[in-house]
Amino acid sequence: MNAVGVDVGGTKIAAGVVSPEGEVLAAVRYPTPRSPDKLVETMVRAINEVGSGKDVAGVCLAVPGFVLAQKDTVVFSPNLPAIEGIPLKERVGPEVGFPLTIENDASAAAWGEFRFGSGSGVDDLVFLTLGTGIGGGVISHRALLRGAQGSGGELGHVTVHATGPRCACGNRGCLEALASGTAIGRRAREAAVENPGSALGRLAARRGLLGEDVTELAREGDGVALSVLEETGRWLGIGLAGFVNVFNPEVVAVGGGAMEAGDLILASARREIRLRARPPSRDLVEVKEATLGPESGVLGAAALARNTDGAYALGG
Ligand SMILES: [Zn+2]
Repeated sequence: MNAVGVDVGGTKIAAGVVSPEGEVLAAVRYPTPRSPDKLVETMVRAINEVGSGKDVAGVCLAVPGFVLAQKDTVVFSPNLPAIEGIPLKERVGPEVGFPLTIENDASAAAWGEFRFGSGSGVDDLVFLTLGTGIGGGVISHRALLRGAQGSGGELGHVTVHATGPRCACGNRGCLEALASGTAIGRRAREAAVENPGSALGRLAARRGLLGEDVTELAREGDGVALSVLEETGRWLGIGLAGFVNVFNPEVVAVGGGAMEAGDLILASARREIRLRARPPSRDLVEVKEATLGPESGVLGAAALARNTDGAYALGG
């Protein structure tokens, strides 16, 4: 049967009814409210709007931050603090007519890529999304890695640089602090100051730099913009080399807004993996761009929704 997937993001809430084949049959999106009550209200409204009048077996809320599965809450969410501590099943469940499941948003996106995107056809997948932060998810032997409390798979918060920049999580030198879209912005601003004569430096002197400026200037051949992306890819590769050794995935898929830059980031990440990871994992893994784009969250959440028997509502 169909299932509803809800991708609760820092700026928008997207909900969709998804068929077992991965087709989105109906979708809505709302801006993310900043208060806990309004947040619950909007999630309920979105689910009921898309689900009404359709055969739906279950719904899954994909939420940002560290999930405590036993209590169906998010305990820490730097990008959406309003969601912290809300007993989601208790508050949202009774307002919607379907069995409710809670998962981490990046784990859901990873599951979406595994079922319908860049990871379909493989059993072992590592997925990373480079946006404001870095989310991640691991599929091992066709099962989503959740850990003891449902908080596993937080790949963005592994330390890759002991004295590196401060991360949104409070730690220093997390992968997120060195290879996210935010990290690209910081690195680009620093590079612009150090190289005022470069295209990047001249643009920064006229106006604030946007993430896409760096990619655009790099494509036009600006060496400084290119080196900003290459340096980002290097840090990404340092993190990925560890994941390759630990999880031995067939595919590492990288998505998120920063993947506009594609191989301008991934080429140096692949180089770093070749240098740092070990055979046979290093020789097997294929590092590629994720294919579903922003829809991976809704699709993956729907595919993780459970029916009243506890089985995946979409099957598989
Ligand atoms: Zn962190």
